[in-house]
Amino acid sequence: MNQFQLPGCLIIEEGACECLNEILADCVPGIEEKRVMIVTEEALMPIMKSYLGEMQRDLPQSDLYLIDENSFAEAMELAKQMCMSDVEVVIGVGGGRVLDVAKYAGFVAKIPYICVPTTLSNDSLASPVAVLGTEGDARKTLKCAIPAAIVVDVDVVMGAPLSQLQSGIGDTISKYTALYDWKLDAAYRKERVDDFSYLISDMALSSLCYNEEKSLKSKEFIKILTQSLVLGGLAMEIAGNSRPCSGSEHLFCHSLEENYKEIQISHGMAVALGSLVSCRLQGRDAGKLEAVLKAYHMDMDPMNWGITKEIFTDAWMRAADTRKDRHTVLNEVELTAEMLGGIYEELRK
Ligand SMILES: [Zn+2]
Repeated sequence: MNQFQLPGCLIIEEGACECLNEILADCVPGIEEKRVMIVTEEALMPIMKSYLGEMQRDLPQSDLYLIDENSFAEAMELAKQMCMSDVEVVIGVGGGRVLDVAKYAGFVAKIPYICVPTTLSNDSLASPVAVLGTEGDARKTLKCAIPAAIVVDVDVVMGAPLSQLQSGIGDTISKYTALYDWKLDAAYRKERVDDFSYLISDMALSSLCYNEEKSLKSKEFIKILTQSLVLGGLAMEIAGNSRPCSGSEHLFCHSLEENYKEIQISHGMAVALGSLVSCRLQGRDAGKLEAVLKAYHMDMDPMNWGITKEIFTDAWMRAADTRKDRHTVLNEVELTAEMLGGIYEELRK
């Protein structure tokens, strides 16, 4: 069985950033005596400056590191600086770009990483992987460790752009088809899915789908979305891979990223769109997913994202090649341009 770790502390509170120092002291005893690196980016300074100032006052041995880019080189530079100056704890404050750099740098430097998200755009929040830029536009998913603590200030996240929260919904919704593909993969390999991990990912999906609060900018909804994204990350940690959260719908997203870089669509929106297609390929009713996506006003017309029928068809045709080691529904149905064209037209209605 895969060995896994859980975050020692998960706080989802209104005003958490105003008492961040008390929370951090609970999460990491003696943190005020330790050398700490606080990682964020320039663009967040207007909103986070006062919180960061207070944090630095109460953590006298802390330094601030502003990332330039979400790249492997940046994470290695940060890790090097932390190793050279004997930093003992790294705190990432920001969105996915900042958090993945801080998470990977903390893993390389072998020190605890504390995650303080300012938005909720995907489930990398609590996951054991970091997605970082390598050469040019290429990006790589790298294994690392889950955060030692996660602190979510509901009020701060409420200020995030609506599109980022919709992306977080899309990444959660995609578990519907990812879990099905995981079972197909297990049957193909004559293995078993890890039931505990499956259950956790399914809980992440259900708690979002069956919640009554449909207003994205409500405290109740932010708490539910945080829980779902954190559960997704934990499901990956327990399984020891991303299968409980990533199936053919994610392969479509990777295919778009690799073959059609000009398409501007968030990760969560692309995988949500992918799920509507995968669901049909899996021979299942997509009505449940469509109802949830509609309730959150998520635009699932591919054309509105610049995805023409030709791009859509080609991206699906090349999706399985993006991760050849994965067995999904794409290995079990024969894709044709006519079939994909028909699905494209359905999505446009
Ligand atoms: Zn994802």
